[in-house]
Amino acid sequence: MLIVMDKGVTEREIRSVIERIEQLGFKANPIPGAQRVAIGITGNQVPLDSEEFESMPGVKEAIRVTKPYKLVSREMKSEDTVISVRGRQVGGRELAIIAGPCAVESEDQAFAIAELVAKAGANFFRGGAFKPRTSPYSFQGLGEPGLKILAKVREQTGLPIVTEAMDAESVPLVEEYADVIQIGARNMQNFSLLKRVGKSRLPVFLKRGISATLDELLMSAEYLASEGNYRIMLCERGVRTFSDHARNTLDLSVVPAVKHLSHLPIMVDPSHGTGRRDRVAPLARAAVAVGSDGIMVEVHDHPERALSDGPQAMFPDQFAELVKEIRALAPLVSRVF
Ligand code: PEP
Ligand code: MN
Repeated sequence: MLIVMDKGVTEREIRSVIERIEQLGFKANPIPGAQRVAIGITGNQVPLDSEEFESMPGVKEAIRVTKPYKLVSREMKSEDTVISVRGRQVGGRELAIIAGPCAVESEDQAFAIAELVAKAGANFFRGGAFKPRTSPYSFQGLGEPGLKILAKVREQTGLPIVTEAMDAESVPLVEEYADVIQIGARNMQNFSLLKRVGKSRLPVFLKRGISATLDELLMSAEYLASEGNYRIMLCERGVRTFSDHARNTLDLSVVPAVKHLSHLPIMVDPSHGTGRRDRVAPLARAAVAVGSDGIMVEVHDHPERALSDGPQAMFPDQFAELVKEIRALAPLVSRVF
């Protein structure tokens, strides 16, 4: 249930609603919003009686939320969530372009790529220090030394850093050096990781699982929100289907579906979605056209030498061209870049 408070509500009235919810044995979740104060109730197994709350002073109305995900649903909060990271806004009119290598391989490699993507117009830098690899014999990432390189890249370029935490133990390290915590596709339903990141002060970049439905993606986001972290960017990165002409099938139709069901921003990763650099730009343009709040793309200055995901890494000049195209596209879909 969602309790919407009157415009002129007092602190005391809000407190007594929260106290009543807690007396009943449920959790009160104040919803951050620009317009009015709202309080989401979670933890109830059966529908609550709306009249009980509507008779309390300061309450405008009590609305039943019918979806299994509550806090991240549009029913709970009608306006879009806008996440501010070091002066950039994700989920508003501004488009976000997150670019960088799959993995941080060395200081020289990270700095060279960061300079190129910053110059081209990226507004976030990505790079994995902890890499989830199919084979235990593949490059696993540099770990903390990789995070230190990322922090230096931010110092040098001013770009906020997005990087993956693979397990609950690595979250404090990522929190120390990065600006946005990525949860990878393979970990979308790692519930202990979700609970830990839900307690973080950093925003989250939550990637859709390889075979996850939209409801499952939103339930994972609900885990984060239920721990108090509402600063969630969702990401479509391709799902596994019978189709075998690309690494994955990029499900762009999920973008308007998310916008309908949730107030959270949704971004698209056409690099993992296609697996081939020549497919990345067309799908990135399509992502912007379909209403995505931004894109995440992998870029490498020497993809042939990349320690992971070389075939899908864009050349820096391809990326620069893509940014120009997105700049031209943005006003057509009422976005700024
Ligand atoms: C990545 O972003 O490098 C990555 C491993 O992505 P995903 O979890 O979507 O495979
Ligand atoms: Mn990758």
